[in-house]
Amino acid sequence: MDGQKYQDFEAYRLTPAQILNKLNASSNGLATSEAQLRVNTYGLNSLQAINLDPAWLKYLRQFKDLMILLLIMSAALSWYLGDDRTSLILLIIVLFNTTIGFLQEFKAERIMQALEKLVKPSAEVYRDGKLTQIDSSLLVPGDIVRVTEGDSVPADLRLIAESELSTNDFALTGESNPTRKFLHAISEEVELNSRQNIVFMGTTVATGEARGVVIATGMHTELGRIASLSEAAPHEVSPLQREMNNIASRITLGVVFLCAILLPISIHAKLGLKDAFLFAIGFASSLIPQGLPAEINTALAQAANKLAKAKALVKKLSAVETLGATHIICTDKTGTLTKNQMTVEQVIVGHEEFAVSGSGYEANGAILSRGGHKIESALLKQHRNFFMCGALASNAKVVPPDIDHREWYCLGDPTEGALITLARKASLDVDALEKDYPELKEFTFDSARKRMSSIRNIDGTLTAFIKGAPEGVLEHCTHILDDGGRRKLTQSDREWLLNKHEAAANKAMRNLLFAYKELPRGTNPKKLDMAEVESGLTLLGMVCMLDPLREEVPSAMLAAHKAHIRVNIITGDFSLTAEAIAKKAGLSGKGEHLVVVPGQELKSMTDTEVLNHVRLGGTIFSRVSPEDKLRIVEIVKQAGEIIAVTGDGINDAPALKRADIGVAMGITGTDVAKQSAEIVLLDDSFSTLVRSVQAGRTIFANIKKGALSCFTSNSAELFTNIASLGALSLFGIPLAIGIMQILAIDLIAELFPIAALGWDPAEGELMKEKPRNPKGHILNKRSIVDLLWCGLIIGALAFGNYLLFFARAGVEIRNFNTANPLYFKATTLTYITIVCCQLINIMQRRSKKGFFSRYQLSNWHFWVAIGFSVFCVMNIVYNPLINEYFKSGPLGIIDWFYALGAAAIFLVVRETQRLVRQHAVANTTD
Ligand code: ADP
Ligand code: MG
Repeated sequence: MDGQKYQDFEAYRLTPAQILNKLNASSNGLATSEAQLRVNTYGLNSLQAINLDPAWLKYLRQFKDLMILLLIMSAALSWYLGDDRTSLILLIIVLFNTTIGFLQEFKAERIMQALEKLVKPSAEVYRDGKLTQIDSSLLVPGDIVRVTEGDSVPADLRLIAESELSTNDFALTGESNPTRKFLHAISEEVELNSRQNIVFMGTTVATGEARGVVIATGMHTELGRIASLSEAAPHEVSPLQREMNNIASRITLGVVFLCAILLPISIHAKLGLKDAFLFAIGFASSLIPQGLPAEINTALAQAANKLAKAKALVKKLSAVETLGATHIICTDKTGTLTKNQMTVEQVIVGHEEFAVSGSGYEANGAILSRGGHKIESALLKQHRNFFMCGALASNAKVVPPDIDHREWYCLGDPTEGALITLARKASLDVDALEKDYPELKEFTFDSARKRMSSIRNIDGTLTAFIKGAPEGVLEHCTHILDDGGRRKLTQSDREWLLNKHEAAANKAMRNLLFAYKELPRGTNPKKLDMAEVESGLTLLGMVCMLDPLREEVPSAMLAAHKAHIRVNIITGDFSLTAEAIAKKAGLSGKGEHLVVVPGQELKSMTDTEVLNHVRLGGTIFSRVSPEDKLRIVEIVKQAGEIIAVTGDGINDAPALKRADIGVAMGITGTDVAKQSAEIVLLDDSFSTLVRSVQAGRTIFANIKKGALSCFTSNSAELFTNIASLGALSLFGIPLAIGIMQILAIDLIAELFPIAALGWDPAEGELMKEKPRNPKGHILNKRSIVDLLWCGLIIGALAFGNYLLFFARAGVEIRNFNTANPLYFKATTLTYITIVCCQLINIMQRRSKKGFFSRYQLSNWHFWVAIGFSVFCVMNIVYNPLINEYFKSGPLGIIDWFYALGAAAIFLVVRETQRLVRQHAVANTTD
């Protein structure tokens, strides 16, 4: 159990051979059995999360809250004034509140951690001589790992082979430009950032690819040793949370100010210093929405959890609410709208066309002639170069079924997997080819150039095999190889081929051209120039592959249209292919405005033109480069629209970062893309994205209902208190409600039902509405007027019930003795009246269709919460062990009649109001 053993030598000063020797490894990789032994010795390759803040510190942080401080001050004051019970209850409330806050935060953190684990990092490693994919945590020193562009480096590796490799080491060395890496040993001792033959865990591959031997894992890596590792992402606050926190602190400050004014008034009202203070405390508590922050936290964490179950991983809680405001989606095509299961359907070799049978990555098909017959092996031999080109210019591996996969599957790019399968269908032994014609150099694929080339040693001749997007490759071809052997490429050859390309693309096929070039004798493979290699090519032919549409896409597209979300496609693929897929997917509602904007055209468009296209939706941006994608995102953002953009490649990272919602692909996405995104789609599917947007809307609607419900009772308490204070100072009528009772509304009666609103499902019309205005606030003029109005009604009803209570009892209310049990009953009636109205209010706000809607039955959590809340309230009223603390007295049947009667009046007023408003809206839209 001692990883130190490997750290007493400096790997960067040894040659690849020496290091392999030292680690008891070979360039073919370890045997699985040996790897298992080494896991036992060196432990798992994972960074033991250093627990960031201790729990008690997190708990203490809850006390930073202004509301909590105010409550503590109130408790101290009541204690000082000799009201121990109030003081005790206030402290219990403080504890209750901070504990809930702490638990919620803790739970949210746990959920986020669990979610992170869902995207398990994996590594490509050679085991038993074969390239396989394993969980990164199982890597051991001595493993041979392959990394390519976009990967994040899974352990510290000493390179043993590389091609154009550079890495982003910023996380480790602070160097912001990619560092070019090399193989040779460094003789002198150098700093970390100069050890250019090592790639470090936690950095990402910027370009090229490489193989390296693992020299350190887990906490023994350079990353693991750096203590700053413990500096995790700061606690993220979403815009909504920020808005609510702001409201809460503003209210709190306002309350302090109001109290300062009210204090002299209440002293004047003969309350006495002590009672005046206590009243001020009660008044303050009544206005502060104590339960709100916890309610919002719960709702957001709940949503993140629900989304993960639906296969969308939210990396920041704030993304949940932004999702709901999404106006525009720009989606990838390959893998997101389609399955990314490429199968070659058709090939054109020289001028001859063949069909290809079979599907998937298993080589259970054949190359067929026009008549549908399997072609003869003599003909296959003649076309060997063509099929070989596909296999040699590919890095993917096609692997037979295993425990995790029921069918043959592809490691690496599915496009390339399809070409390997094609070669196998043409009876080529791909493994043997790889051995006989070793790769000397590769110019890797990038989505701007849209092609790649591999330089091989073919029996002594350096030969480049090129494959890529037809237009680009054709431009660089000067010759063609067909029946007549190698000859000059004519204009009619070009036209013929481009016609074939378009015809296939119209059938949604994705086409690639194959070409080759024999490099002059004596060329040094170490000093190749990409532009030089990829010019003067000889054309071999074309493959046409089909990538089927995902079944669930058309209905998701329909849902997006209904929800007024504009969908556009941004793809590197050819216009016609993209258009054919877009039609199948139903990109443009009923077939209108399907516009194709090829990359060339895009470049000459003004920003306004681009914006108009994107806003309309149904636009396909084809043959687009990553810079174009970034430009589109920037234009849309500048216009203030909320945009979600998908991406998978390393080049997509800037666009993903810039978009409001960057969406990375969980399966095909590079690590870099996933790191830059807010959301990772575990199944890569467009429909999951649409579902997430829907979930974002639902959650926002629920939070809004909850917040407004919460403020209603505060408003009601405010009016009750004002009426009370007026009655006291003018007529000497004792206060209508006690502090404890006010707190028992905010923290007991309404807390659970409001929190349970987080489970409310989407209401019918929600997904047919326009996205909400991201700049709109929950508390705006209209909602504030509405809240004050509700508060006024409830306050009047509650205070009215209070006065009527004394009238019914036939006692003189002026200067009534507040120690008399009758007074307790009267204030309890005020309390119960507000509670009943508030529960009605919550239900009324729950559904757009109001109180009497079937929607009320939709969420059982809500009814359990209502039941629990009624149970608690009954205890406060009737339980002799508890009601004394709340200064409550048991109510009689008649009292209940008055309380429920008030609630009924409130309900009638609100429902009438709703119907009138609905009617008005219907009239204006006629
Ligand atoms: P998208 O993901 O939007 O379909 P890509 O950027 O992956 O687009 O690919 C753009 C174009 O590059 C494809 O249409 C194809 O012509 C070409 N291409 C894709 N993959 C490869 C590859 N592995 N090798 C060579 N060319 C490729
Ligand atoms: Mg792609």
